[in-house]
Amino acid sequence: MFSALKGLTFDDVVLVPGYNGIKSRQLVTTAVSLKGREFSLPLISSNMDTISEDAMANAIGSLGGMSILHRFLTIDQNVTLFNKIQFKDSTGISIGIGEDGLLRAEALVAAGASIVCVDVAHGHSKEVNRTIKALRQKFADNILIIAGNVATYAGADYLAAAGADAIKVGIGSGSVCTTRVKTGFGVPQLTALHDCRQVDRVLISDGGIRFPSDAVKALAAGADFVMLGGMLAGTNETPGQVLEEVREGKKYHFKRFRGMASKEAQDDFMGGMADWKTAEGVAIEVPARGPVKDVIQDLMGGIRSGMTYCGAATIKDLQRKAQFLEVTQAGRIEGSPHAIGRLTH
Ligand code: 5GP
Repeated sequence: MFSALKGLTFDDVVLVPGYNGIKSRQLVTTAVSLKGREFSLPLISSNMDTISEDAMANAIGSLGGMSILHRFLTIDQNVTLFNKIQFKDSTGISIGIGEDGLLRAEALVAAGASIVCVDVAHGHSKEVNRTIKALRQKFADNILIIAGNVATYAGADYLAAAGADAIKVGIGSGSVCTTRVKTGFGVPQLTALHDCRQVDRVLISDGGIRFPSDAVKALAAGADFVMLGGMLAGTNETPGQVLEEVREGKKYHFKRFRGMASKEAQDDFMGGMADWKTAEGVAIEVPARGPVKDVIQDLMGGIRSGMTYCGAATIKDLQRKAQFLEVTQAGRIEGSPHAIGRLTH
């Protein structure tokens, strides 16, 4: 049966300013706690092979955020990679479902990992449930389990009931993701967060954050953390070579960034695309962008400022006080730089 409900995402809304009693945006706290563990930044670097390895985990860990390593390497390589990380308490590891997933978790927990992310494109599934239960049985409460991805209350509730501590929300919202184009499935990110927020677990908004304002809106809609892929792509700490290109005598520098379900990633990690499958991601080159801390600083500046626009001293305050307003196309245009001239900075 066709029942067209409305799904909203970041660009569909603005946050309405409210009374502010906080003297300076330096006085807000963006700290978030996850099962007794404190993170001073509500940010997680995405578990993609072109985003999170040791350099990213060390940089994000030193800034007070979390990083989740990707799982597209052998278990031994995964352990070697994890051993290079200084901030082991704030670095998660990823596993898939089934026997490989459990073996990987075992090896990495033995190496000192305590955050395990069960990461599947469509997480509202029996196999993910089984994997979470098996992890809980094996490691009891000694590990923190993140599971996903889901985009509905039913999906989030299912993972919470299986034993997940944190739920990763986002289907089809990623910057190099083509799931909605290939399958028609997904939920616009703000509506997905709003629905999943009904579940009493830590929520991670995964996919679609392009600007600091998207992060503010995701947190205001109920996310405890935002996960970042594209926003961090091209920074010095991402894995991979810097590619140089000379055009009309001028040098340009790029780094690769790709969806984990892209044809390129599947060629590299799965021995090619199976003939019954289609790619649900793309591979791109992005400009090389310098240190990740500069991106994080700009992002956190936006989050802190955003919090004071509604007088929120904490992220929980922001969630309580935030009022969203749906905007028209004219409102969106008004809200982006629209002076006529040449952009210089
Ligand atoms: P971004 O921050 O770039 O908008 O989104 C990052 C997220 O996109 C990742 O954390 C992951 O959930 C999702 N993602 C990564 N690769 C793929 C892919 O190939 N296909 C799909 N559907 N999603 C992807």
